[in-house]
Amino acid sequence: MHEWSIAEGIVDTIVNYSLKEGAKKVVKAVISVGELSQLNLEFLKYAIKALSEETIMENAEIVFQTEEAMFKCLNCGYSWSFSEVRKKLLKMFCGEEVEECDNPVHYVPDLINVFIRCPKCGSPDFEVSSGRGVKIVSIEVVK
Ligand SMILES: [Zn+2]
Repeated sequence: MHEWSIAEGIVDTIVNYSLKEGAKKVVKAVISVGELSQLNLEFLKYAIKALSEETIMENAEIVFQTEEAMFKCLNCGYSWSFSEVRKKLLKMFCGEEVEECDNPVHYVPDLINVFIRCPKCGSPDFEVSSGRGVKIVSIEVVK
């Protein structure tokens, strides 16, 4: 139940921040979720809604944004996005140029380190610089 503890963190943060700002009610919250976070958004939304009950965040609109995964080569410093290597991966797994297919990276992002190489120098030594976490982008309140 990874989503549940993340939802708790989100609701706590939004409620505390809004109370500090003197808000009466939270109308809307935009939350950015990393492409590689492996979160079930439907369940996350459900958990946020459930935890918001009887707080100033009750009935707030929850909007999710996807944060694109970015990688940075530790060898040459080149940065690239998941979409840049996505096509290549799909071709590797599905044997043809397709938009979407069942591939293990989609389910197990940790495999990315096995399959992805720096597009510039070919080094397997890189870090995931974004696309893993969950961030609160904006909060709309009524005072
Ligand atoms: Zn490189």
